[in-house]
Amino acid sequence: MKIKFYHCSKAEKDHKASKRQYLHTKHFKGNVICYAKEFFELPFNHRMALLAHEVGHILGAKDEDQADTLAEEHFGIKIYYQDTITWGKDLEWITEKNAVKVLKILGLKF
Ligand SMILES: [Zn+2]
Ligand SMILES: [Zn+2]
Repeated sequence: MKIKFYHCSKAEKDHKASKRQYLHTKHFKGNVICYAKEFFELPFNHRMALLAHEVGHILGAKDEDQADTLAEEHFGIKIYYQDTITWGKDLEWITEKNAVKVLKILGLKF
């Protein structure tokens, strides 16, 4: 699945209101994921896990758990949760190898 990655002001606003909110879908038609610029400050493995999760929403997840499950099936990855000192606890995470895989499948270059 190819997605469009779009910087939007609503994502910036949402991030300011809720620090751990960086991305959303369903704002625009099609496979569009909107981002706040702070997204790019996150560790690569966390970033790609969040992106995969959003794809789970695009694939029609009914709730947060299902977004993970659909993402895992779609990308053939395992999402887990990790505590970090800098970024907080219980963060969605994937291995480096799977992060590269997600990036490749999405056809994004960053
Ligand atoms: Zn948006
Ligand atoms: Zn979600």
